Amino acid sequence: MARGSDLNSDCGRCAGLCCMAFAFEPSEDFAIHKPAGAACPHLRGDFGCAIHAEREERGFPGCIAFDCLGAGQRVVQDVLPGVDWRAGEAPRRRVIETFRAMRELHRLLQLLHTAGHLPLPRAEEAERQGLIEALDPEAGWTEAGLARFESGPLPKRVSAFLQGLRALAPSRRTG
Ligand code: SF4
Repeated sequence: MARGSDLNSDCGRCAGLCCMAFAFEPSEDFAIHKPAGAACPHLRGDFGCAIHAEREERGFPGCIAFDCLGAGQRVVQDVLPGVDWRAGEAPRRRVIETFRAMRELHRLLQLLHTAGHLPLPRAEEAERQGLIEALDPEAGWTEAGLARFESGPLPKRVSAFLQGLRALAPSRRTG
C-alpha cells in the first residue's frame, strides 16, 4: 500500500456517509426509497446502524455489499474534520461532493494496486507507481483539490493506463 492511503473501510471512524449520500430505490438491494442526501431511517444518532445484524433479512443487502474503500473515514477524519453533514444543506453538500470524489479516487487507487500483481514491464510499472503517487500525494487531499479531481486529467490517465494493460493480461481460452 502506498503511503497513507488506507483502502479498508472503518465505519467506526466515519459518520454514516454511505447511509446518507446515496439514493436508494426499492429493489432486491434496498427495501425503501431514499433520496440522495437524506439519512437512512435506520441510521442512529451515533452513526451506527439500528438493524446492522439483520440488514439482509430486513431487505438491505446492498448495504453489506457496498464498500467505500476507506473514503468515508478519510473525508470525515482528514479532509472535512468537524464538518457535520447534519448541520444543514451547505455542509451536507460539501460532504457528499467530497465523499463522492474520494470514493472514486480510492477506487482508482485500488485498481492500480491490483494491477501491481501483474508481471508488468518496467515502463508500465514505473507509470503505475507514478499514477499511485499522483493519486496519493504526501500532502494528502483538500476539499478544493478533490472538487477538481474528477474533471481533471488524472481519472482519464488512470483509465487509459488500465485499458492499455489489457493487452498484457494472459488471454483466457474458452471451450
Ligand atoms: S440500513 Fe443501516 S447500513 Fe444500511 S443505509 Fe441504513 S443505517 Fe446504513
